[in-house]
Formats: sequence, structure tokens, C-alpha cells
Amino acid sequence: MKFSRILAPVAFSVFVAACGAPETQSQTVSVSAKEANIRSHLEFLADDDLKGRQTGSEGHEIASNYIVSEFKRLGLEPAGDDGTYYQRIPFRKSTLKENSASMTYEVNGEAVEFEFPKEFITGPSHYSEQDQVSAPLVFVGYGMEAPEFGLNDYEGLNVEGKIVVMLTGRPEFLPSEEGAHLSNIKSDIAREKGAIGIITLHTPVREEVRKYETSVYYTKTPRMTWLGPNGLPKGQEQQISGSAYLDDEPAKRLFANAPTELDAIFTKIQEDPDFSPKGFELDGKVTLKRESRHEEISSPNVAAVLPGSDEKLKDEYVVYTAHSDHIGVIKDMSREDNINNGAMDNASGVSVMLETAHLFVESDKEFKRSIMFLSVTAEEKGLLGADYFANNPTVPLNSIVANVNLDMPVLLYDFADVVAFGASHSTLGETVSKAAKKYDTAQSPDPMPEQAIFTRSDHYTLVKKGIPAVFLMTGFNSRTEGEDGGEVWGTFFAEHYHKPSDGLNLDINYEAGARFTNINFAIGEEIANAAQRPQWLEDSFFGKQFND
Ligand SMILES: [Zn+2]
Repeated sequence: MKFSRILAPVAFSVFVAACGAPETQSQTVSVSAKEANIRSHLEFLADDDLKGRQTGSEGHEIASNYIVSEFKRLGLEPAGDDGTYYQRIPFRKSTLKENSASMTYEVNGEAVEFEFPKEFITGPSHYSEQDQVSAPLVFVGYGMEAPEFGLNDYEGLNVEGKIVVMLTGRPEFLPSEEGAHLSNIKSDIAREKGAIGIITLHTPVREEVRKYETSVYYTKTPRMTWLGPNGLPKGQEQQISGSAYLDDEPAKRLFANAPTELDAIFTKIQEDPDFSPKGFELDGKVTLKRESRHEEISSPNVAAVLPGSDEKLKDEYVVYTAHSDHIGVIKDMSREDNINNGAMDNASGVSVMLETAHLFVESDKEFKRSIMFLSVTAEEKGLLGADYFANNPTVPLNSIVANVNLDMPVLLYDFADVVAFGASHSTLGETVSKAAKKYDTAQSPDPMPEQAIFTRSDHYTLVKKGIPAVFLMTGFNSRTEGEDGGEVWGTFFAEHYHKPSDGLNLDINYEAGARFTNINFAIGEEIANAAQRPQWLEDSFFGKQFND
């Protein structure tokens, strides 16, 4: 999972105080998850031998092989490509060549160079090892299009064949999940409108949250994308052939003759965070150049199916997802421990998924719809394995009725409640609450809405295809006297998240793991046998995007 570091652990104790006591309503259930099974999966997947399960690494291949062998042992049918359990994905890893990026602004017969990386930065291109784009500029405000929120930033502007200039971020009045989604699709909108380049402007408001220098640090990091069966990045023809991130001070030069100066726009958004500036054409043109190095690697998703029992509904699927990759090793060999084992991120989620599969197989109940178990790769590279599956599904996309995602369940305390991301958008919210109740577990509201977690893990790629999804995290209340769940969670996040210490030395609570598995099983069971497939709620933003 990708968390923003803005989060402070102190927020958790505040939340715990606001949280209600868990509701209780016992009910007997036929099968129950076994702690020992979860432990054995987790201890294998988080072992040093797997070297942090980096996408494309041998360690990740071994993890995938382990998952396949578990699927076989459970008697599940293969649901990958060509009758196998594997969906092998070609990836391209692109790196920006040093000193290759340039940005030139031509106006009134004069050419001004912007300095890399002091004034602007750019990432590598996935399309060509050498590229260049030169075009006039159009300022498009935040570059958002969401009429339901009164945002029509492209209205009256023609950006066909131009470079769009947009502010980073978004107006603050947007709800967090909707805002995060609309921010994520900004470049897709620019592309749809016919733009051929994007310049994003750093702002003083952003500087307070994330410094420009922080972004500079990441320019050396390679970026990854998946290649479609047509060999193209994300299966798409190139259209945006240049992009740059420009610091706020130098950006002012582009606005020298503009109807509104950039300074005035910055002041306005500082005074009123809800303000969304209107766009206009800018003088002059910009030329962006860069060189990139490409490397091809491959890494698999792994998929299996338990066929449904109902003649008709068996053609519909409930899909569980859990990412099997993590972030590999830290290059610094002087460290005593340089392996990021990812015990909680996400060996725990995969282990829970495997034991959930076991419960479905072991149960003597019938499940009308088919259940798919999908372990995805390259989550840590930007949800890439899941995105590949969402765009190249091994079963028809409209036959997938719901996604239950498992990412980073923090199994370190005796949780008394769960938080279900996505619960407020679809009928799955009710499904979760019912399932949790069976195990005397309450459902709590999202304790960190500003993180917009609904858009930060694998299920989001399926949500964008219209599939209702939900995923659970352990809530911040504990059943154990004197244990502060929020504090354990917060400490994990602050001290172990994406670090070598997220390993088997943690005090893993397998009893909590078993309960978490039982709840996730009950969610899938409910969806599999419900008369109706899950629906987006009428008044949900995501529902409105996909219901028509
Ligand atoms: Zn992660």
C-alpha cells in the first residue's frame, strides 16, 4: 500500500477516543480459519530467502510459485493465461538519462532555458528513448473536469496539439476520495482533450506539504509500466510526449503577459483553498527534450478459481486480490538487515487470502457464484499488476461482480473493529457490516479520510472499470485490556512501514489473523450467494460514474 507520510501517529489516539465499542452478535459458523496455516504462509513469504519479493526478482517468482502450489493443493482451477495459474506480464522499466532533460521557453523572439533539476524536473519516457515536444501553451487551472462539482477547467479552451499548464493539487472542497480520483485522472483528461504535453506547476500551498526538493530526489528512480499485448505502454498509443514539473518561482516567467499573473493566482488559492482558477492561453511556446533508458522485465500475477455451484451465477465472479510483491532490498550493504521482508505489506494479505481460499474449499456450503483468488504483482510500482489484469482480464470484466482486496492488514493486535474502505460507495458496506458482526467485530468509519485509501491499493484499478470494491483494515480498538490498537497501528506505520523491520521479528498476532480471515471469508460468502450482485449506491460519486 502507498501511504502518504503526512500522517502522524498522534492522529490515531484521537480517533480511538471517538470510536464506539464493538457491537456484539454471536452466530455459529461452519468453518474457521487456522492460525497455524496463516503462520506457515506468512513465515514462508516474509522469509529472508525471498529477498523482499521485488517485482521481477527471483524472490518474487518463488513467492508466486508458492501461491500456485497452494492453489493446486486446494484443488482450485487455473485462471491465468493459456490454462495456467500464471498471468505473465511484460513490464518496461525506464530511467531518465543524466543531463538529458531540457526545457526551453520561446517568447517575443527570445529563448529562455529552465534549469534542471533546480527549476524543473521530468520523469523518463516509457515510449521512446529520445523524445521532444514543442508547442504553444494553455493554462487550464487545476486541469479537472467534474461537472458534478462545478469543475470544467477545459471549458472554452482548445488544447489540441498544445502543451497544457496546470496547477498541482486540487481545490479543497472536493471530498478526499473523489478528489484523489479526479487528481489521478488529470493526465488522462489532458490526453482526451488532445494535449501533447503537460507542465505541472508546483505551488506555495504544495510547498508546505511536500517540498519541491523532495520531488527532485526521485528523478533518478526508474519508473515502471506494463506493456499491452500490442507492445505499447498500458496498451496505448503515445500522445503526451513531454511532461515537466516546474517550481513555483520560475513558473511565473510563463505568465509574464498573461491575463492574470501567477502570483495573483497563488495568493487567491492561499486565501481561499476552495478557489479554482479559470484557464487561458499563454504567450510563447515550450520545447521539452529528454532521453530515457529502457529495460524489459517480466513478473506474474497468479490466479485461481473455485467454480460456483449455480448453473447461471457460476459465470459471475467474486474476486479476492492481494499483492504478492514488496520493495526488495536496500542497496546499503553496511546495514545489518537490508531486506524489506514486507511481513505486513503484504505477506499478511496473501496469507489471509490463501487461508480464505482454504475456507471456501473446506466449507460444506455451496457458493453460487465463482470465487477468484488473484495475487497481483507490482503493486509497489503503482498498482501495475492489478491494472494489467483490469485491462487484460482473464474472465469477462462485466462478469466480475465485486472485488475484496487485502492489503497490509496489520495483524499485530487483538482488533475489535474493522474499517472498510469503499463501504460508503456501494452495497458492499452493508455486506461487510453483516460479515463483521458474525465475528463480534464492529465496523468503524475511516479514521484517516485525508489519505483517500480507497484510491491507493489494487482494487482501485477495478473500481475504475466500474466494479464495486471494498477492503478492510484492522480498526483501532482492541479486545485486550490495556492494548491501544490505534497506537500499535500508528507505531507500525511510523517505525516499520516499508522498512526492513516489517519482518518476522514483529509480534504477529495470528489469532487476530484468523479472525480477519473469517471476516473476509464471510464477506465473499455473502456476495457469492446474494440474489443480486453488489451495486454502487445511487448518490455515490463512483456510482454516478459507472451506473449509467
Ligand atoms: Zn507497500
